[in-house]
Parts: sequence; C-alpha cells; structure tokens
Amino acid sequence: MNKLYFYNTLTRKKEIFKSIKKSEVGLYTCGPTVYNFAHIGNLRTYIFEDILNRVLFYNNYKVKRVMNITDVGHLSGDQNMGEDKLEKGAKRENKTTWEIAEFYTEALKNDFKLLNILEPNIWCKATDYIKEQIDLIKILEKKNYTYKTSDGIYYDTSKFKDYNKLSHLDLDTLREGARIEINIEKKNPTDFALWKFSHKDSKRQMEWDSPWGIGFPGWHIECSAMSLKFLADQLDIHCGGIDHINIHHTNEIAQSEGATGKKFFNYWMHGAFLNIEGGKKMAKSEENFLTLENALIKQGINPLVYRFLALQVHYRKPMEYSQEGIKNAQKGLNHLYNQVMELGKEKGEVDNNFKKKFLEAINDDLNMPQVLGVVQELLKANLVNKDKLKTILDFDKVLGLRIEENLMQEKFLDQVQKLIDLRKLARDKKEFIKSDELRIEIEKLGYNIKDTKDGQIVKKI
Ligand code: AMP
Ligand code: ZN
Repeated sequence: MNKLYFYNTLTRKKEIFKSIKKSEVGLYTCGPTVYNFAHIGNLRTYIFEDILNRVLFYNNYKVKRVMNITDVGHLSGDQNMGEDKLEKGAKRENKTTWEIAEFYTEALKNDFKLLNILEPNIWCKATDYIKEQIDLIKILEKKNYTYKTSDGIYYDTSKFKDYNKLSHLDLDTLREGARIEINIEKKNPTDFALWKFSHKDSKRQMEWDSPWGIGFPGWHIECSAMSLKFLADQLDIHCGGIDHINIHHTNEIAQSEGATGKKFFNYWMHGAFLNIEGGKKMAKSEENFLTLENALIKQGINPLVYRFLALQVHYRKPMEYSQEGIKNAQKGLNHLYNQVMELGKEKGEVDNNFKKKFLEAINDDLNMPQVLGVVQELLKANLVNKDKLKTILDFDKVLGLRIEENLMQEKFLDQVQKLIDLRKLARDKKEFIKSDELRIEIEKLGYNIKDTKDGQIVKKI
C-alpha cells in the first residue's frame, strides 16, 4: 500500500498519516450552524471532507466520522458578543429555534444526498450534549482556567501555554484579531465564553440550568465535548474551513488540552474558501450566498456538476465562483459521462498501473486535480475498453460522480434527459406534485416511467 500524506495545519507540513488504532480512523468534521441553508462555500468544505473520508476508505481504513450540528450558542459576534444565530433565525422566520434547527438540518442532509456526500456515522446536536459541555467546563473551573464576568464564564487564554500552536501567529496578532469586539470585563482579548448567562429580563427559547446559573453554552465547547465523547481514544483528524483555524479550533484545543492534559487530535486539516466577486468570501452573514438550489438546481443543472467543479481545485487553494465556471463544469462532466458511455457496459479488470498513479495522486494530500488528469490519461490509454471501465468505476469510489448510475441509464434526447433529471431532483427533494407533473410531460413525449428503489427507469413506449 502507498503511504498516505496529509498537510497538517498544526505543523504546517505534509506528514505521513498514522492512525492511533491500527485500521480505524477517528474523523471529526465541524458541522453547520443551522439557522439558514448551507451555501456552496460551506458545501465546498463538506465535499473536501467527503473526499478525505473516501480516500481513507480507499486505503482500507474503517472511518468513524462525527459531525456536529450547532443548534445553539453560536453568536453573531464571532466569539462572545451579539445574538445567538438560532434565536435570530427564529425571529426572522417567526418559528421556534427548534423548528429552525430541524428544518435546516434536514435541508443540509438533502444537500449531502444531492452531492453524493457520504453521511457521517454520527450526527450530534449541541443541544443533546449540554451535560457533557457543563462537565467539561466544571473540569476547567477546577483546574483554574476559568473566571466569571457579568455575562458568563470565560476561559482565561493566558493560562494555556501553547495557545497559538495551531494558528502559528504571535500572541499580539491573535489578540489584535480578537479585539474587534469590546468587552471590558475580559482579562485578555482572546478569552472566550464557555457559558453565557441568560438575560434576567428576557427569556430565551433555549436555556439550561447549570452550576453558574441559567444560560447556554458558548460555541466552541460543544466540539470539544463531543469529540472527547465520541472519539476519546481515536483523536486522529479534525477538519473544517480555514476560518476555523485562528478562533474556533484554537479555542477547542485550549479547552480540551486544558481539561485532559493530553494532545487533542494529531492532524488538523483545513479547506480553503470559495470566494465570490474577486476574492470576497462567501458567507451566510453577508447575504451574498448562493445555495445549491439557486446556483444549480433551479437552472436544471445536476448538483454533481458542483462536486466535479470542486474536484478541479486543490482543497487548499482558493476557488472562485462564476456562472461560467459552473457551465464549463457541466460540459466537462457530461463529456466524461459520454466518454465512459463509449466504453460499453462490459467490465474487465482494474488496471494496476493506473491504480498506482491514482493512489499516488489521492495519497499526496488529496490531489484531485491530478486525479482528473489520470482519468483522462486512462481514457486515452492503449487498453481494452472493459478494463478502462472497471478502472474508472474503481476510481469513482473516491470521485463520487455516480458514473455507474449514469451508465445504466438509457441515452435519451436532450429534452427528455433534462425532464428526467428535473424529476429526479424533485423526487430527491420530496416534491411529489412537481414530480407527477414532470411524469406527465415525459409520458407525453412517448416514454414510460417506473420508480424503483434504485431510481426511475425510463423506457420508450
Ligand atoms: P458555518 O455553518 O458557518 O459554521 O460553516 C460550516 C463550514 O463551512 C465550516 O467548516 C466553515 O469553515 C466552512 N465555510 C464557511 N464559509 C466558507 C466558504 N466561503 N468557503 C468554504 N468553506 C466555508
Ligand atoms: Zn467545531
């Protein structure tokens, strides 16, 4: 087996990956704050994490992947100030915070399906593990890492020796970054809330009793508590977008290592941003965000086109969004599907020479652009078609482009294919009225549809 290399933010180096247990990897991927739809920037990060998961599988590891759902406590000021994002979302939509959280969690799971992102083994909601978070804060209190202000219990970052070990920034720069918010009661600008008190005169929808009074947990503590709960003896890899390095992950390390006295995760991997309009980060709070629905589905574009686009840029390089880029990726993916279609349906053997090249690329810190090059090289190589097909289907275990599913479909006129794709999307999204209307349109063109557990089967009448 080839050696597997990952770029570790902790050491700023590509390192050989070595799991704690022999053949199982613990993987924690920071999840969404569920007060709005995921935008395609968030989805870029989730696609990178899915590729990582699949590459570990391809290297014969079992993966225990945990993803949290932040349904409380993430404040609109990045660290401690401002309104809870869920309470804010609930006001905006005139729903309860619980309804908001449930609705956007389901929406995310649906995006995962559309993008062929494998589900984590464990989804965990912050509100289901309040006790674990309180217990962790109690340990930190006992070890003298905490202090109380008028609005909550805070972590004293000056007490943690290596506070900057992940960010590699000097403490003054970190302090400058944190100084945007003004809280005169904090001892250091980088200190952050572990527990926030509810306001005495306004009742929150989500609040809990604690040794320090009624309130709710700070944002960072949930990921420490849930990582330690689910991955106690296999703290291998922890992921997120690069915006998590300086604050969220830095604070997770301070809390967890402060409490346990042991190293918290051996590898930290971060995905670069999807940017929009000349380098501006796409952000939920900016309202400039594009969802899978409005950037692709509404225009009848298969969501997997976005996955294909994301594969073209290395996860540590910034990616620019443009409509033109999406259109080109659509052409590219259709071209790939057609190239595979021309190979016929008979499957031979996986070609070892190409498998080696593929492994070299994926195991070199997930070099997916190089993988796409290997795929094209394979398609042009002097090999029998059935071996090419078997090899490409093997690669699709990592690519996740549903190549076999596509191959099994009959070739239809563009007009019919578009309706079939739209009906598939409608069914994935449980929009059954729309799906019935599309069925009628397809039947009018002279085709019959049967819905099976493997999807719709369309035949000419
Ligand atoms: P959030 O719901 O804001 O906590 O973000 C969920 C995930 O998406 C985190 O891992 C973020 O780091 C990541 N993320 C946020 N904005 C972007 C972006 N523009 N491009 C790529 N990833 C992002
Ligand atoms: Zn997290």
